[in-house]
Amino acid sequence: MKAKKSLGQNFLIDENIINTIADEVAAFSNDLIIEIGPGQGALTAHLVTKKSFFIAYELDTDLIPFLRKFEGEKQIIKHQDFLTADVISDIKDIEYENFYIVGNLPYYITTPILERIIDLNLDFTKMVIMVQKEVAERFMAHPGTKDYGYFSCLLQYYFNIQKVCDVSKNAFRPIPKVESMVIALSIRKDRPKVNIEEYQEFLKGIFRQKRKTLKNNIDVSLWSKVVPVLKSHNLPESIRAEEISEDILIEIFRNIKQ
Ligand code: SAM
Repeated sequence: MKAKKSLGQNFLIDENIINTIADEVAAFSNDLIIEIGPGQGALTAHLVTKKSFFIAYELDTDLIPFLRKFEGEKQIIKHQDFLTADVISDIKDIEYENFYIVGNLPYYITTPILERIIDLNLDFTKMVIMVQKEVAERFMAHPGTKDYGYFSCLLQYYFNIQKVCDVSKNAFRPIPKVESMVIALSIRKDRPKVNIEEYQEFLKGIFRQKRKTLKNNIDVSLWSKVVPVLKSHNLPESIRAEEISEDILIEIFRNIKQ
């Protein structure tokens, strides 16, 4: 079947990579696995052997008949857009212990998928996903590096993110234009306590114009609350948001909100 570019279809054919991803998911029969975009079932075939509760969301109508063979008493294929699926209702009656999210993601919606998972407040044990390498590097970037920005900061607030492996273009058919990486995310237990909606707004604001200084991206009336924090850490007033570590950003945010 012809892969659909519009749905981000690059199917995994490299058994080593497929095994690596499946091995990262240490699920047992009393656990739950959600797969995003099972495609032709390259990962699905391995995931269902774990005998866990299993739900896969696939948007492409043409792939559904092929995926039906993976259905079972505890295994469900949903012909749905993951971005609008009612995942909470889908899992609410399942009594599971650990919860894994897995996917070789459609790259055109990597960020919306992660935003959706954050919005749904899904309490997963581990998420193992394939993303574009450049995007993975942004997710894991440290303050002060060129890759660091709003979404790195936001994702790292929610999750611990680790590289699992690099993946060559040749691991897929059709061969994509970009290199990939498998990453593993777990929910951070030591998140600073803040009002997340307000903190997210604050982050959006200070990262709005990347090349501008923090001062330029912050309301003039609030600047006097920022200066003492910068001073206490010996940071210049000309600093940019992407040069500031999370703990100092949190301090600035708390001072502003006081
Ligand atoms: N897991 C398969 C593999 O590794 O070979 C397929 C991965 S392919 C990169 C991404 C899959 O996500 C495709 O099957 C595509 O149809 C599906 N997809 C795209 N958008 C989706 C959405 N919004 N919700 C669910 N699945 C989607």
